[in-house]
Amino acid sequence: MTKIREKFYAGVMGFPVSHSWSPAIFSHLARTLDYPLDYRRIEVPSENLDESVRLLRRLQLFQGWNVTLPYKEKFLGLADELSAEAKAIGAVNLVKVTQEGRLWGYNTDVLGVQKTFEEQKAKITGNTAVIFGAGGAALSVGYALGTLEASEVWMVNRTLAKAQSQIRRLKRIFPGTGFRAVQVLPEAVGASAKLMVNATPLGMTGFPKKSLLPRVVASDVLVFDLVYHPAITPLLRASQKRGLASVGGLDMLLWQALASWEIWVGRIPHIQRVKKELKQQIVTLRESGV
Ligand code: NAP
Repeated sequence: MTKIREKFYAGVMGFPVSHSWSPAIFSHLARTLDYPLDYRRIEVPSENLDESVRLLRRLQLFQGWNVTLPYKEKFLGLADELSAEAKAIGAVNLVKVTQEGRLWGYNTDVLGVQKTFEEQKAKITGNTAVIFGAGGAALSVGYALGTLEASEVWMVNRTLAKAQSQIRRLKRIFPGTGFRAVQVLPEAVGASAKLMVNATPLGMTGFPKKSLLPRVVASDVLVFDLVYHPAITPLLRASQKRGLASVGGLDMLLWQALASWEIWVGRIPHIQRVKKELKQQIVTLRESGV
């Protein structure tokens, strides 16, 4: 890994940013990698956004920053270049500042999903998958499933028009995958899918404590809940009770942090081990209620 500066500055930009887990995750990551990172909360009210970005571009102190609500779409216009994923998803959640002071916009949601699938050995190519929800996260999951050549992807959403609009977008990029939008999942599809993903906030702290797991599912299905707070959501609990393989949203979140680091700094050696250590540290932190 090449050290470009004595200290490496990065942060999370949004409004508000007080709730963000990123400072804790990146501090632990920097400690694990023994790298001098100074990771800041960059809280910017919308009327100051353009000026703040101009300043950060001119100062060239920051290697980059994570972008959170409400600026993920704004950076489509503020970045000089966009990754294929950011363009396709229509949102930027990571900015890298190049040595020439140019801003590159990325979307690491897709990378986080792809790495989680890989780690879980999810059976996707040639198989059917189900996504609950039709927001930005669901679109990222759909994109990852398209890259892995799923045969069918069913997007289930209470607002049908939103799912229809997302799948139109995905069909254009991945014509080989059969994307479908429905309000209610047909029972036969639920019974044959090899992957079920919750990309709604259901089960998240402060939202209805509801599991979307269908009554009949394949015994070898992988259940992936994007929600990471609480650690064990109603969907994960229901899956575990039925002996199904499952994974929560923390893994995706950590893979995204590792992807951010690799984009800003460079390749992380022994990344699986680093991810395992990082997860242990974050779980311990969460259990201690910090
Ligand atoms: P979003 O754009 O607001 O979309 C939310 C989706 O969930 C919409 O399709 C919405 O349906 C649906 N929904 C909301 N409340 C619902 C309810 N009570 N019943 C049924 N459906 C409901 O959100 P997002 O950015 O895609 O994020 C979705 C979830 O993924 C959040 O919990 C977020 O924390 C999580 N996430 C996790 C990670 C990670 O790294 N683990 C990354 C990104 C997101 P309508 O279209 O009908 O409104």
